[in-house]
Amino acid sequence: MNEQTLSMRLERVAAYVPAGARLADIGSDHAYLPVALMRRGIISMAVAGEVALTPFRSAERTVRENDLEQQIIVRLANGLAAIEPGDEITAISLCGMGGETIRDILDSGKSRMSGQERLILQPNGGERPLRQWLMKNDYRILFEDVLRENRFDYEIIVAERDGPVTYTAEELYFGPLLMQARSPAFLLKWQRLLRLKEKTLVRLAKAQAVPRETVEDIARQVRWIEDLLA
Ligand code: SAM
Repeated sequence: MNEQTLSMRLERVAAYVPAGARLADIGSDHAYLPVALMRRGIISMAVAGEVALTPFRSAERTVRENDLEQQIIVRLANGLAAIEPGDEITAISLCGMGGETIRDILDSGKSRMSGQERLILQPNGGERPLRQWLMKNDYRILFEDVLRENRFDYEIIVAERDGPVTYTAEELYFGPLLMQARSPAFLLKWQRLLRLKEKTLVRLAKAQAVPRETVEDIARQVRWIEDLLA
């Protein structure tokens, strides 16, 4: 993977970035996503935010080597602190981090958002707490996607602020749109997870001093997945 050939995962994310967007890619690492989008003429400017020095330098290098310093600003910053009011950001991508981390970045960076930005999120796990945050903060999920690459299942959640929205517990768990679409990748993901969770339940039944709520929660998840796949 590089700034010309994105991974399938980032390629799928790229498809949800609107043409002409002013993109803030937070946790950009090597900045492949904003650089690829700029090279293709899809976005008009970008901020690549990184909290850690080594990926920050790597992002600077990719931007410099592609002569894009005028269009892509690389900032060393924690979360949405990379965004400045004059940036007039219209889309924010947060990819390749845990769902809880993405949620915390969004929550602590609320003052940096106008509320008009499209959020393009690719959590590595923790999708449920992330969707809960979106619902609590009036974001409607517009698109969802799931794909498998290098033996990992990745979900992509695209949301925009659109007034109050309510999702059921199952929709928060599986994804409201993924549940409706029931794509082959989605069904395979949950078949795999069902086997894992059933094994976990067997293991917990033999273990000692496991909190009852933990077992009940996993048993509930197993029932939901069985119903989904039935
Ligand atoms: N977004 C790229 C992708 O999807 O390929 C890189 C993902 S990489 C696994 C996660 C990156 O997020 C790391 O470079 C890490 O330093 C950065 N990161 C983690 N927490 C962050 C935060 N609070 N603010 C900015 N960057 C963060």
